[in-house]
Amino acid sequence: MIRVSLRFYGDLNDLLFGGFTGPTVKRQLTAPTSVKDLIEGCGVPHTEVDLILAHDQPVDFSYLVQEDQQISVYPFFNHIDIPAAERLQKPTLPKNRFQADANLGKLARYLRMAGFDTAYIREQSDREIINQMLGEQRALLSRDRKLLMHNLIEYGYLPRSDDPADQLLEVFQRYDLFDDADPFCRCPNCNGLLQSVAKEDVIDQLEPLTKKHFDDFSQCPECGQIYWAGSHRRRLDDRLKEIFSRT
Ligand SMILES: [Zn+2]
Repeated sequence: MIRVSLRFYGDLNDLLFGGFTGPTVKRQLTAPTSVKDLIEGCGVPHTEVDLILAHDQPVDFSYLVQEDQQISVYPFFNHIDIPAAERLQKPTLPKNRFQADANLGKLARYLRMAGFDTAYIREQSDREIINQMLGEQRALLSRDRKLLMHNLIEYGYLPRSDDPADQLLEVFQRYDLFDDADPFCRCPNCNGLLQSVAKEDVIDQLEPLTKKHFDDFSQCPECGQIYWAGSHRRRLDDRLKEIFSRT
């Protein structure tokens, strides 16, 4: 029997399940186990873990735990002085591209509104999600821990809140997106990149009041939706400002 003690730091304690409560969890193992499996067996997906120390030495997820070890497990840090080689998560993605799972449709809309390339398909199997995520180099956003625990998932985040606006803020903080937002360049419905269109090219599709009061229009080349800087956009703008005022 291999006896180990894990200490979880920060909000990782909120993710413990299966009767485990933090911050210290004691486990007895009948066979050598990777530290990834050990941590995930307590309910914490590896995507949430940024640093693991085994007897004060940094180790990676494949490390096999030893008898009587003290394992310290730390969450992702955006602003902390840890040597990059010891970190298990990268602070940001090369391109800030996301994949929202089937339960995060509203978060996907918010991210698109803020200008971030976010794939979301309502009916999508786990395998399809993983394939798209890997093929298009996206970070997975999911509240499904089992999905995040998949070995192929390198980049991912589990939004803690049930509220999509708070989830958006969490994703901004996790991936440090505040300087990269480009609101209203992307279609919230389908993720298409909006293109400017001449008023005369879309005038047949406009309501009389829109026709009268607005001159600048953009259109989604994917789904055809037309956008303009009217009250709808102002409401979205106010919504984003309200979300970011929570920092
Ligand atoms: Zn569209």
